[in-house]
Amino acid sequence: MSLKENYQHILSQLPVNVQLVVVSKTHPVEKIQEVYNLGQRIFGENKVKELTEKQPQLPKDIKWHLIGHLQTNKVKYIAEFIDMIQSVDSEKLLAEIDKQAEKHNRKIKVLLQVRIAEEDTKFGMEISETKELYEKYLAGEFPNVEVNGLMGMATFTEDKAQTEREFLILKRLYDQLSLSGNLNTLSMGMSGDFPLAIKCGATSVRVGSAIFGERDYHIS
Ligand SMILES: *Cc1c(COP(=O)(O)O)cnc(C)c1O
Repeated sequence: MSLKENYQHILSQLPVNVQLVVVSKTHPVEKIQEVYNLGQRIFGENKVKELTEKQPQLPKDIKWHLIGHLQTNKVKYIAEFIDMIQSVDSEKLLAEIDKQAEKHNRKIKVLLQVRIAEEDTKFGMEISETKELYEKYLAGEFPNVEVNGLMGMATFTEDKAQTEREFLILKRLYDQLSLSGNLNTLSMGMSGDFPLAIKCGATSVRVGSAIFGERDYHIS
């Protein structure tokens, strides 16, 4: 299928209230522009260097989401333009985003990334750490960020029951935190598992290879 067909096929599977983040990592700006021309405005990248190279070459109304692990010392390179940082995995990082947002006289939207996968290779905070950090935010500690919700990645497995368990852990935490604050984004689900993520309550999905095809890390 063509890029256009892939994109439209994904869109056709999303309820109207579910947001699509097109994950464009490793793909050239020409391909991103093609998807932009089909109407897509939200794109996700996981590396600061790649993002800061692509961003100036593409339309300014793209909403860029950082979805990969972010080193504290690199926040300054994206603070001016980033729409949302989905991968906040420490208090130190949130404090730095707050500082950089203030410097640029803006608010930066973020998601707290929670480690839900049983495999321990994935980034993210433990549930207790996430709750503590959110409470500090509610108490006013990070006035230049806007915590919009949670992000998580399930274990890479064929076992759908396990994936579902992990998504539901995140959904339960999201519902709990929603009791005390104002959340609107639950980001979970990728090419292989987004329909299940939506069933489990995702409001935003991050889809790359189902649109662009498999990534070739050797080219970039
Ligand atoms: C690469 C990536 C995705 C997209 O993965 P696909 O399987 O290509 O859809 C989603 N989320 C994160 C955090 C990623 O790094």
